[in-house]
Amino acid sequence: MKILVTGASGQLGSTLKAMASTKQTEGLNFMFKSSSELDITDFEAVREEMLSSNYAYCINCAAYTNVDKAESEKNLAYQINVSGARTLALNCNESKTVLIHISTDFVFDGFLNTPYVEEDIARPIGFYGDTKYKGERAIINNLDEYFIIRTSWLYSEFGHNFMKTMLRLGNEKKELSVVYDQIGTPTYAHDLAEVLLHIIKAHSIDYGVYHYSNEGVASWYDFAKAIFDINKISIQLSPIRSEEYPTPAERPKFSVMDKDKIKKTFNLDIPYWKDSLEVA
Ligand code: NDP
Repeated sequence: MKILVTGASGQLGSTLKAMASTKQTEGLNFMFKSSSELDITDFEAVREEMLSSNYAYCINCAAYTNVDKAESEKNLAYQINVSGARTLALNCNESKTVLIHISTDFVFDGFLNTPYVEEDIARPIGFYGDTKYKGERAIINNLDEYFIIRTSWLYSEFGHNFMKTMLRLGNEKKELSVVYDQIGTPTYAHDLAEVLLHIIKAHSIDYGVYHYSNEGVASWYDFAKAIFDINKISIQLSPIRSEEYPTPAERPKFSVMDKDKIKKTFNLDIPYWKDSLEVA
């Protein structure tokens, strides 16, 4: 079974690439394309790739992911996250390819205080979240056979992520302040990649929008503390409020997602975030 992976040099793409030579992916024939090999905003290039290769699935790991810079690079973020998603959807439709697309907890405003379900109204408060939500709509409006997986606080040994930033700062600094009033769930990219492979191997036709993160809840402060504790890094860590750490983009205060739908549909047992952090 042939699978196209776009944005293959990013964090999730690299995670999938690392898994591609393991037993877990037997029978799956991956074609990994980095941004320079396949630009998802180039309609003709995507069309040619899809029509010439007969892919069963396209896993879209390509995205504009810089939440703060998106506020000033609006056109670029829109092109990649909205027009790119639409381009993939239209071409998946023509080539009968199932699209697996990754979205984000940042589509929510964070004003709830119970976990968000898939049907909850998306009301992004930053431009990145806005483009990711419009990207979801572009897929839903142009394709029937899609899985949109919203995930959160992705980390791994690859790419840029919070865990790697904390490990670097832990080696550079003696004291660090981290916000404690934004609540969400860290997600180990490897665990997410396993779920994507599970969906493919199950040949599922339960298309739609799903929430996936690890189990449990954390603030960025909790996440940082666990990273330092597990790695035995001694640092003076202080909790601060978001207002004390202003950023160009506002983030939701509460973006925990309910995962019942994905657990029930695919019979999943999701690891707790701290357990995954220990193996990361
Ligand atoms: P990364 O930023 O690590 O990777 C994104 C990749 O997309 C990069 O390799 C980038 O290539 C590539 N890319 C950018 N523009 C294009 C383009 N026009 N055509 C093809 N490729 C392009 O992101 P992650 O792996 O961390 O994220 C994967 C998905 O998960 C994204 O959809 C993201 O929105 C979502 N997500 C991520 C979270 C996180 O915390 N990281 C949280 C929630 C959701 P290059 O580097 O060459 O520009």
